[in-house]
Amino acid sequence: MTTPASNDPASQPDAAASVPGRKPMDAIMSLCKRRGFIYQASEIYGGINGFWDYGPLGALMKRNLREAWWQDMIMNPAWGRKGPNGEAVRCVPVETCIIQHPKVWEASGHLAGFADPMRKCAKCGHFVRADQYWDTLVESSEWFNSLIQEFEPAPMGTQTPGLDSSRMMKWARGKGKKLAPNLALVRNPEVTLSWLATRVNGQPNVPPDVQEIVRHVATEQLNATGLQEPCPRCGGELGAPAQFKLMFETWAGLTQTDDNKVYLRPETAQGIFVQFKNVVDTTRVKIPFGIGNTGKSFRNEITPRNFTFRSREFEQAELEFFCHPDESHAWYQFWRDFRMEWWRSIGLSSDNLILREHDKDELSHYSTGTCDVEYRFPFTAPGYGELEGVAHRGNFDLTQHQKHSGAKLEYFDQERGELLPNGSRKGERYLPHCIEPAAGLDRGVLALICEAYTVDPARPSPEFMKFHPRIAPIKAAVFPLVNKDGMPEKAEALHAELNKRFGRQGLIETDPKQTIGKRYARMDEAGCPYCFTIDGQTMTDQTITVRDRDTGSQERIAIDKVAEFLGEKLGE
Ligand code: ATP
Repeated sequence: MTTPASNDPASQPDAAASVPGRKPMDAIMSLCKRRGFIYQASEIYGGINGFWDYGPLGALMKRNLREAWWQDMIMNPAWGRKGPNGEAVRCVPVETCIIQHPKVWEASGHLAGFADPMRKCAKCGHFVRADQYWDTLVESSEWFNSLIQEFEPAPMGTQTPGLDSSRMMKWARGKGKKLAPNLALVRNPEVTLSWLATRVNGQPNVPPDVQEIVRHVATEQLNATGLQEPCPRCGGELGAPAQFKLMFETWAGLTQTDDNKVYLRPETAQGIFVQFKNVVDTTRVKIPFGIGNTGKSFRNEITPRNFTFRSREFEQAELEFFCHPDESHAWYQFWRDFRMEWWRSIGLSSDNLILREHDKDELSHYSTGTCDVEYRFPFTAPGYGELEGVAHRGNFDLTQHQKHSGAKLEYFDQERGELLPNGSRKGERYLPHCIEPAAGLDRGVLALICEAYTVDPARPSPEFMKFHPRIAPIKAAVFPLVNKDGMPEKAEALHAELNKRFGRQGLIETDPKQTIGKRYARMDEAGCPYCFTIDGQTMTDQTITVRDRDTGSQERIAIDKVAEFLGEKLGE
């Protein structure tokens, strides 16, 4: 979910440039391509909408993010902190299939309810998501962005405040014909403009807002259906919203019939619920505990957009934390707070992160609390877009799977229930409640890339990436200052030593060619936090220079202390 509401004037293109701190998305995307972070999927065939591939640096970075999640949520959950029950948090992993029994999706409610409201253009057949109509118009409609420039400069206090009818007429007869042939203003400019004038006149001090004008230029006269919202592609009339299923379908088996129909999972969470009983029966876990699952999910998003933010294939990292109903609220708060802290710990700044609690009317019927960790992406600024959802799901999922599968999913808790004379407990049987922190790894990578992107025209690389060392795809680089006088050999030896120790965490680069300035610039652009340079002095006193990416400052340290130095910086 993206906040703010689409009618926020700041989300409109004319205001976009003036939003302080908004980073240029085009430049970020072009750096991602140039340096091998993210490529369009199937690019040599013209690409495929909603699908993205990761290049070498992007794949390494995403692996680092997944590893960080895995380490801090499964191996050493919540950094070894105690939970609200006073004990260390315990979690285990599973890895479940993308394709599950179709009844899983019946039980989870996805088959019946996982759909978006869509509107279809009666003229060109284009679909637009009803609840994202205005965002889509602002972000991707060519005619809208062209038209909006026409009424901005008109002086206030004129007959149609903020509007210049002659300019709009010119637009309708020129550019409009090409860009929005089905818009009422283009088909019938005289009628539409005079109708528009009657609607916006009479309030000389209140210029009509953009949405109002757009609705008017799409409507020749007020008819039974009222003001129109025009198709973002051709300006034609959009039909009423209809539900559009988001799950990808395929067949398992030879016959491609309804009996063999299966679905690509739209989330990793359900795989956890359906294996809950197996995990309890085959391992020594006791409630409270969590089960984590990472992997690809698929949603046939109607309007994939904003780079990787809304893709059709994406990766999730989800934890289901099972606990006693009486403790569930405390665990909800625990995970909500930890997840915010975690995103900050890997480099997202507090200024760009918010925790948004859902209003009562936004909550699913089974949830007593849900919040989103939201990031201020350049394309949502000054608003925020969802990075992770943390939901109190009650026992909804286990109840549903118990009902639909017939399997008993209740948990027998030996540590609860009446106290018996022998000092033990009678035990209590219940369906655990569940807290679900559900993160998106692709949105995570995108947020980290946007956060890291920094422009400083004074530097040799005017664009550079300030990645947190834990996330940086290249951890360090070793350079001989010049490619002679024993320096390359020394650099090679240091590179081999660092690679042996840190190679599991990311790339350790080495490069003897080009000027040192160019080599630093290349590393800055890739977000490598430290460069170690072997120079003439190294050959006499066994020290090297360490260059810090963010400040560009250099210090000398002993060559035999380099591994220790890097280990500390990487948080070992
Ligand atoms: P949105 O409201 O943005 O569609 P959602 O609330 O449906 O997201 P969830 O079902 O809670 O998302 O999924 C958990 C996480 O998975 C999201 O916070 C997000 O990071 C990621 N995610 C969901 N849909 C997509 C997508 N189409 N592309 C990339 N990541 C996604």
